[in-house]
Amino acid sequence: MPIKIKRAGKFGFCSGVRVADLKVRRFAAGGGRGAILGQVVHNERVVEDMERLGMRTVHTIEEVSEPTIVFSAHGVPDSFHEHARERGLHVLDTTCRFVYDIHRESRKALADGCHLVFMGDPNHREVIGYTHDLDPAAFHVISTMAEARDIDWASYRAVKVFYQTTLNAEEFEEIVRYIESINSRTSRADTICYATKENQEAARELAMDDEVQLILVIGGRQSANTRHLWEITSRIKPSHLIQGAADILPEWLEGISCIGLTAGASTPDSIIDEVEETLTRA
Ligand code: SF4
Repeated sequence: MPIKIKRAGKFGFCSGVRVADLKVRRFAAGGGRGAILGQVVHNERVVEDMERLGMRTVHTIEEVSEPTIVFSAHGVPDSFHEHARERGLHVLDTTCRFVYDIHRESRKALADGCHLVFMGDPNHREVIGYTHDLDPAAFHVISTMAEARDIDWASYRAVKVFYQTTLNAEEFEEIVRYIESINSRTSRADTICYATKENQEAARELAMDDEVQLILVIGGRQSANTRHLWEITSRIKPSHLIQGAADILPEWLEGISCIGLTAGASTPDSIIDEVEETLTRA
C-alpha cells in the first residue's frame, strides 16, 4: 500500500522570503549583476539556484566586485548600508518588513532608556543586524537561564525583551519571567513573526494527528526556523530533518503507513513537492 502523506496546514516559504526570492530573481532576469551577502535565505538549494542565475553568495562586503550588493531577508546593521555606499555599491535590500519593525522598535526602546535583551542566537545574521552597531553595554543576547541568572537585571532602569523572529517563544517563557521577576520595569515586544507562529502551530497539530507515525521536516541546514519545527514535532512523534528527497533513508519508512510533512520558512515549494513525490513512489 502506498504511504499516505499529510501536509501540515501551514508550512514553507513565508511572505518575507517569497518577496526576497522574487526581488533577486527579477533583478537577475533584468540583467542585473550582483552578489548576495550571506545566503539570501537559509536554504542551500535556493543558494545554488541563485548562483545559476549569476548571483553569487559572498561573506563580506569587501568581496563584492559586482555593481550591486544584495542584503538578505534577515537584515543587516545600518553600518553595512553605509559601508556599501562608501564602496560605491548599489544596494538591493530584501530585508523582511518584520525584521525592520524590530530594528525600529529596538532603536526606540533604547532612546527611551531601556536595556535591550534579544532572545536568540548571537551569531544568527538577524541578531547581528540588531546588535552589531550598538554599544555592548546597551544590550544582551541570551538563550539560556544560566546566562539570564548571570546578569544583574535590577541595575537597569527598564528592560525591553525582543525575540529573534523565528524562535519558539514558549521555550523562552521561563527565562523572560525570571527577568520580569527581578526587574518589574521589563516589557516584551511581540516579535515572533506570524509565519513562524503559524508554521509551528500547524507542525504541532500535524504531530498530534493519531494517523501520522513519522514527521519529515524539510529545510536548510542553517535554517533556525526549520530546526525549531523539528524540535516541536520530535517531542511528539519520531521526526527527521531533511534538506530534500535525497536525505530520506529507506529504513525510516519500514512499517510506516502515514507520514506528516512540514517545511521551514526558507524551503521552496518545489523541494516539498519533490519529497512528496518520492514518498508516494516508495
Ligand atoms: S520568517 Fe517571518 S520575519 Fe523571517 S523572513 Fe519570513 S516573514 Fe520575515
